[in-house]
Amino acid sequence: MIETDSQRAVSRVLPGVRDVLEHLVRIPSVSANPAAADDVRRTADATAQLFRDEGADVDILEVEGGQPAVLARFPAPPGKPTVLLYAHHDVQPTGDPALWTSPPFEPTERDGRLYGRGASDDKAGIAMHLAAIRAYDGAPPVGVTVFVEGEEEIGSPTLSAFLETYHDQLAADVIVLADSANFDIGVPALTTTLRGLADCVVEVRALDHGVHSGQYGGAAPDALTALCRLLATLHDDEGNVAIKGLATAEPPDVDYPEDRFRAEASVLPGVELLGTGSIAERIWAKPSATVLAIDAPRVADASNTLHPVARAKVSIRLAPGDDAVRARTALVDHLRANAPWGCEVEVSVGDVGEPYSANAEGPAYDAAREAFRESWGREPVDIGIGGTIPFIAEFAQAFPAAAILVTGAADPHSRAHGADESLHLGEFERACLAEVLLLSKLAKATSSP
Ligand SMILES: [Zn+2]
Repeated sequence: MIETDSQRAVSRVLPGVRDVLEHLVRIPSVSANPAAADDVRRTADATAQLFRDEGADVDILEVEGGQPAVLARFPAPPGKPTVLLYAHHDVQPTGDPALWTSPPFEPTERDGRLYGRGASDDKAGIAMHLAAIRAYDGAPPVGVTVFVEGEEEIGSPTLSAFLETYHDQLAADVIVLADSANFDIGVPALTTTLRGLADCVVEVRALDHGVHSGQYGGAAPDALTALCRLLATLHDDEGNVAIKGLATAEPPDVDYPEDRFRAEASVLPGVELLGTGSIAERIWAKPSATVLAIDAPRVADASNTLHPVARAKVSIRLAPGDDAVRARTALVDHLRANAPWGCEVEVSVGDVGEPYSANAEGPAYDAAREAFRESWGREPVDIGIGGTIPFIAEFAQAFPAAAILVTGAADPHSRAHGADESLHLGEFERACLAEVLLLSKLAKATSSP
């Protein structure tokens, strides 16, 4: 590849950006931990200072009950569009620190990867946006609003209020949400669909109270066995979700090799995969059903008793195009209709997250695909994400006219949310270059791409 000005600019700023990323990783900004509130505030302050130093107009903002978010604005040159660059500065808890090869909040490089909590999700997103601004010496060719949220890892509880309160400051022609992953190392991707989510807790009652299994077993049912039979109706024999009324989306045009999927999902040898259709279709375009938890006596405390009541939390992922509340009703109806042996079934509904499907066409998508092609030297692919990122649907709702690009520097080996989270430094550089190129291409497109 010919070395371009953009590439030279990224090489120049990268060492400093890497230092910044390490500094941010050292701050344990775990939003789920109330005792870490000061650290969440510290990453907000540090992020704000970074963009202030580049000449932005910076505010730290929050709405009632929310975590501090950073809003940094570089005004648009006359006639140029404005691009919102999103990332989040809070991180997931570390889990058991003993599972980490190096301490989670001490950034450590091994084999071309930077390890640490948040190194990928999503302090890399902040670092990418900083690299893009620095590559342009603080004067990007389009208007740029950097928005760095502080509560993504707890489900962005006040984001919709935030988007409403600060709607005018956040308004943009193009929104770049840098919190996703590429398809593989060396294979860039735009995330164009996300599955939705719905869950519930189901309680099965078979008896008024626990009774002796020797005396009554054989004729009286126990609630735990009844619950197991009910949960077994969630899938057909092939492992397809058997809940009637859930939507299925168009199969994606991506080859996700089965052995790669098995390795990434750590499926044991001999264990079959669920469902039918291509792998990409099953994990991005079809629903799934999972039993998340069961309330039942511990094996260590087992006694010879027919249990009167048992409870499970059931979660379903929803295909793009489905309606989360309607799908949750379908789940509830399914559980009520399949009560085994006439047992009482009570369902309490839980959370929903809407699925998302981008209109992945138009000048902003053209610009992004061109930028990715130049940075990686190969065609990007459109991927789905099997999980739900509620904030994407919220942005789409708040700014219906804006083009939304979901990007990121992570790859399938990043282990976001797990132990040994890491960032591939080569991929990070390509992601930074792609963002620099994207801004210049958007500047050349019309003022409202
Ligand atoms: Zn994230």
